[in-house]
Amino acid sequence: METTFVLLKPSCVQRQLIGEVLNRFERRGLRISGMKMMQLSDEILREHYAHLVDRPFFPSLAASMQASPVVALAISGVDAVQVVRTMTGVTNGREAAPGTIRGDYSMSNQQNIVHASDSTSNAAIELARFFRPEEIFDYTSGMQGYIYGEGECK
Ligand code: UDP
Ligand code: MG
Repeated sequence: METTFVLLKPSCVQRQLIGEVLNRFERRGLRISGMKMMQLSDEILREHYAHLVDRPFFPSLAASMQASPVVALAISGVDAVQVVRTMTGVTNGREAAPGTIRGDYSMSNQQNIVHASDSTSNAAIELARFFRPEEIFDYTSGMQGYIYGEGECK
């Protein structure tokens, strides 16, 4: 089992797509192991998008991320980082494949509905950035035996 970090961006919250996007993760068989609504501070945003702070679009990205509260999620499953990243689709919603979250809900390179960790090491860093340890819950889904085959779930 692996846990990844997802942020439902203001483009998701404002368009009232929280339930719809959460539903996709749940229906896939992923488990929601942490969830909270928060308003992003300048500090956490600069840390989260440290690889982009020097880019010309950073001020506009920061404004878009602070336009409303966001929903931070910890999502667990076997290979959760890769599975969620694939479900998310490529950055630009106009180029994202239909069936992905961005490909179904976004027309933008910036207002692209979700953030998802891109590696297991970044998932660990991002989970620690947004959640206290006691805010992430390690429980077993009652449906686990029907979500995974025998021996598949480690
Ligand atoms: N972004 C943007 N303009 C760009 C590239 C990225 O506004 O030209 C935003 C977009 O919201 C994206 C975020 O910056 O999701 C983080 O960029 P990254 O390259 O890490 O893409 P992601 O991992 O989200 O697909
Ligand atoms: Mg990224």
